[in-house]
Amino acid sequence: MTLKRTPFKRVTKAPKCKVCRVEFARKLPGQKVCGQHCAMALAVSTREKEARIEAKRFAAAERADHIKRRDALKSLKEWIAEAQVVFNRYIRARDNGLPCICCGQLPKSDSIMGGSWDAGHYRSRGSAGHLRFNEDNCHAQLKQCNRYGAGRAVDYRIGLIARIGLERVEALESNNAVHKWTIAELQRIKFLYQQKLKALKAKSPTVTAVELL
Ligand SMILES: [Zn+2]
Ligand SMILES: [Zn+2]
Repeated sequence: MTLKRTPFKRVTKAPKCKVCRVEFARKLPGQKVCGQHCAMALAVSTREKEARIEAKRFAAAERADHIKRRDALKSLKEWIAEAQVVFNRYIRARDNGLPCICCGQLPKSDSIMGGSWDAGHYRSRGSAGHLRFNEDNCHAQLKQCNRYGAGRAVDYRIGLIARIGLERVEALESNNAVHKWTIAELQRIKFLYQQKLKALKAKSPTVTAVELL
């Protein structure tokens, strides 16, 4: 079967200029504009369109890059939070049965289950983030003590000296090393304290109750 071409007569409609929409007689095959003026205008608008597309592409790439950086940051924060949960759980388990670091109140059996204990940092995580996973810097503290004022810093210091000795307290106080946590490091810390908690649990069955807090 042969393909029949549409007779030329039927498509004699004059083309319209792409720019000014005026009908014109085609002099060159594929001609889209009426003349030089519109050809230049078309070239400019084509370049502008390409530039706009390029700008959009660039903005999208920038946005993707920003999201990637933000996610990397977020996941570091998440790792810090996850490692902190395990570390704090270990601290409460380690100090199971000991009095509150600042006021000396002894735990009551019902309060252990009631979740009235925090892992209270001597130097706060906000101002001394490099000590957030330091065992000397963190001790079981009654929630009302930890969350009251600045964690009852003066009383905490007295209790801390009694617990670990002045030398170690002063070592904490003079430790201002700048530390930037890495995800790999936080993963190790999390794993380490999971293991330490397991070892404590194996030694003392009462730890299980504390670990639930
Ligand atoms: Zn034109
Ligand atoms: Zn207290």
